[in-house]
Amino acid sequence: MLKVLQDDITTLKIDAIVNAANNSLLGGGGVDGAIHKAAGPELLEFNKTLGGCETGTAKISPGFKLPAKWIINTVGPVWQGGDAGEPELLAQCYQHSFELALENQIKTIAFPAISTGVYGYPKQAAAVVAVQQLKNYEHRFEEVIACCFSEVDVEIYERLLGSGIQAAVI
Ligand code: ADP
Repeated sequence: MLKVLQDDITTLKIDAIVNAANNSLLGGGGVDGAIHKAAGPELLEFNKTLGGCETGTAKISPGFKLPAKWIINTVGPVWQGGDAGEPELLAQCYQHSFELALENQIKTIAFPAISTGVYGYPKQAAAVVAVQQLKNYEHRFEEVIACCFSEVDVEIYERLLGSGIQAAVI
């Protein structure tokens, strides 16, 4: 089942939340900062052992103090105008995150709108890539959540998903 929520991803009590991290995996702004803050300092200590993460790939960490059991850290592309492989790299973020989730028996997973904050990926274009991948994988999970921070994002995702899905706004 695929669901659109408007919520703070750090509050979700599910198997895994995806972090839109940077290559260091050592914390940053936006959703990354919020996740590190909510998970506690053990997350930084753990991530120091991971050796960073290449753009378009993903690595897993425990959720520590989060209600979620796992954090799947992925690194989205920085928007450079669209001709630098951004759509492919963004799609790979979703694919690698889902594959890692499957390897770890994760059944419920939530994604933020990767790359659409500090990394500057246009919201609509990023949502097209995201929705495509979310739809590709949803049947392999009990619940896949597109966790939007803003109402604008909810509207974009809802529109793309069409009338077949209702957005639950908390
Ligand atoms: P990136 O560096 O990949 O652009 P950002 O964290 O800057 O990552 O932004 C990615 C998306 O996450 C943006 O749409 C932003 O509004 C959203 N976001 C920020 N904080 C949260 C949060 N606590 N929960 C869910 N989404 C969030």
